This record gives sequence, structure tokens and C-alpha cells, in this order.
Amino acid sequence: MRVLVTGGAGYIGSHTCVELMESGHDVVVIDNLCNSNPRSLERVEALTGRKVSFYEGDVRDEALLRRIFAEQAIDSVIHFAGLKAVGESVAQPWRYYDNNLNSTLVLTKVMADVGVKRIIFSSSATVYSGDNEMPLRETSRTGSCTNPYGWTKYMTEQILSGIAHADPEWSVVLLRYFNPIGAHESGMIGEDPRGIPNNLMPYITQVAIGRREKLSIFGNDYDTPDGTGVRDYIHVVDLAKGHVAAVTFATENTGCEVFNLGTGTGYSVLDMVKAFEEANGVRIPYRIAGRRPGDLPVCYADPAKSAEMLGWKAEKNLRDMCRDSWNWQSRNPMGYGE
Ligand code: NAD
Ligand code: UDP
Repeated sequence: MRVLVTGGAGYIGSHTCVELMESGHDVVVIDNLCNSNPRSLERVEALTGRKVSFYEGDVRDEALLRRIFAEQAIDSVIHFAGLKAVGESVAQPWRYYDNNLNSTLVLTKVMADVGVKRIIFSSSATVYSGDNEMPLRETSRTGSCTNPYGWTKYMTEQILSGIAHADPEWSVVLLRYFNPIGAHESGMIGEDPRGIPNNLMPYITQVAIGRREKLSIFGNDYDTPDGTGVRDYIHVVDLAKGHVAAVTFATENTGCEVFNLGTGTGYSVLDMVKAFEEANGVRIPYRIAGRRPGDLPVCYADPAKSAEMLGWKAEKNLRDMCRDSWNWQSRNPMGYGE
């Protein structure tokens, strides 16, 4: 199978390219590098010993997409390309709606024209409403998002399910990720955020390497066992394998199906600090700060549907995630930047 991976130079995309190739698929990447470094793809090639066909450009560039589909016999598309910083999306809503929605609209228009009708989309647990009971099932309530980023995920799900509804030849798989962390166990590829990290694990690893002084824990007065926020952290390699399973699923089924990609277990911020310290023998200084606006106290998945229908289950544990995050960061103190 030849898979077009949009955003394939990014964090999750690069790990997915490795797992796809190791499962025997060919990979074609389009990425405009607005939040990534082309070295990630060089490392993917070094790791797999195989070539990635890379097109540098924007998914909203219809002419470029047409060229890619003409040059490559694409069977399926995994659509990672998008902007993902929640706070930035509040400050720059137009840019987020334009990038994340128009990329999907242009991509699916070209796909329909050339008759490639299988797409796997990077959605997020953020599409679930804040008033659900845990664990979150695919049938839990969605909507009432608290920021433009979340709305772009919600709207893209609507766009893609509408397309599948209107044309029964389409196969749409919506993957709702929980909290991806970790890195490939080689330490050659990993998460390389620009500027100050928004997410917990890259912040922890940057404290550990000395790039940040201490972690700020956003609130210790939530109704959780230790008062800090609880999330479902999933190893990025497990997540990547979920995409390989989704490619197979999309080949064998039509229609629109949504799956949670999570472990089903929640850990608090303090659990994460402790697990990181224990796995790696380093100390993470922290201070308790105020709650971050928009944060939920608790969020974790019910991954049963993915196990049943995709035949996929997360296999790595928290210690693996902490070890591999640190292995990547300590081997690449400045990410891909040096
Ligand atoms: P990332 O920023 O590392 O990767 C996204 C890639 O898309 C980057 O390489 C970027 O350069 C590229 N890109 C963005 N807009 C583009 C465009 N218009 N044309 C071409 N390339 C473009 O992010 P990631 O963490 O790998 O996330 C991948 C996808 O998964 C995103 O859609 C994100 O919203 C979604 N997601 C991520 C998380 C997470 O915690 N990392 C959680 C849920 C969902
Ligand atoms: N968090 C924190 N300090 C940070 C970053 C995150 O205490 O510097 C907390 C955050 O409040 C949440 C958890 O860590 O409870 C996970 O946050 P992240 O931004 O990684 O994921 P998301 O909020 O999108 O689930």
C-alpha cells in the first residue's frame, strides 16, 4: 500500500512513517515544515533503511496535491497536517480555521477527483464535551469546544463524516488521540516543540536537560486523588501503530468510523513527575501554579472499541514513555536543531 502522509515530518507523523514502512507500506510525505524540521525525515530513512518521497509544500496548494497524486499511486491518506497549539489558536483563530479546515477541504476535493477515497484523520480527545463521565467512549457527547483548535477538529470530523455519508465509496477513519508522549526507542526521532513547550512531557524533559528552570504545575486543587490534572498518556509508537491498523481497516471497510486512541488509564501531573524521576534518575524541580484556563480535571479513554474493531491496543507503559522521552531529549538536547 502507498500511503500519503500529510504533516509526515512532524512528531506523530514521523513515528507513523516508521511504523508504516516497517509494516511494508510505501510512504509519501507532504509537509510545509511550518512546525517541523526536514531532519526528522532523514532520520526516518536512516532508521528504516528506506526512502521517503518528500514534497515540501502546503496541503492547501491544490496544484501541488494534483501533482503528487499524478506522480504517486496513492492508496490511502493519513492527514496529520495542521496547527495544534491551543493558546495560539485563541490568539489567531483565522489562521487556525484557514489552515486546518482548508487543508482538509482541498485535500478531499483532490482525492475525490482522482478516486482515492480512504482517509485517516488526526482528531483529538478535545472534541469531547467537558461534561462527560469518564472514561470517554466514542459515543460520549462532543462539541462545546473551548478554543478554535478544538473547533477545527470538531468541524473536520463533521466535514469528513458528511463526505462519507454522501458517497458510500469513501472510507473515513477519525482517530481521537489522547495525550501522545515518548519517542522512538532509538532516540533518533521525537517531539521537538518550537519555543516554550505547551505540553507537559516536553516541558519536563526540557527541565531535565536544563533548558527550563522548573516545571509549573497548573493547579493542585482539582477533585482528583492528588489535586493535579489527570490525563491518558499514550506512547507515540503505540499511537503510530494505531494508524497502521487504521490503514488496514480503511482498506477493508467503507463509511465513517471513529476510534479513541488511548490506554484507558489516567495519571496525574504529580504521577508523571514521579514516574519520570524514577525511570531516569533525574530530579524535576516544580512549583504549584494556578489552574490553566480551559483545562479539564480528568480525561481518559475507553479504548475497547479500538481493541475490538481495529485489533489495536496500547502496549507500552508509563515507564517506557518516560524512558523514551528522556532518551530522545538527552541525545538531542536542542531537538533537531543541532
Ligand atoms: P506537529 O506539529 O509535530 O505535526 C504537524 C505537521 O504538519 C508539522 O510537520 C507541520 O509542519 C505540518 N503542517 C501544518 N500545517 C500544514 C499545511 N497546511 N500543509 C503542510 N504541512 C502542514 O504535530 P503532531 O503532534 O505530530 O500532531 C499531528 C496531528 O495530530 C495534528 O493534526 C494535531 O492537531 C493532531 N493531534 C496532536 C496531538 C498531540 O498532543 N500531539 C493530540 C491530538 C491531535
Ligand atoms: N500541565 C502542567 N504544566 C505544564 C503543562 C501541562 O501542569 O507546563 C498539566 C495540564 O494542566 C494538564 C496536564 O499537565 O493537567 C497535561 O497537559 P498537556 O498540555 O500536556 O495536555 P492537555 O491539556 O492537552 O491534555
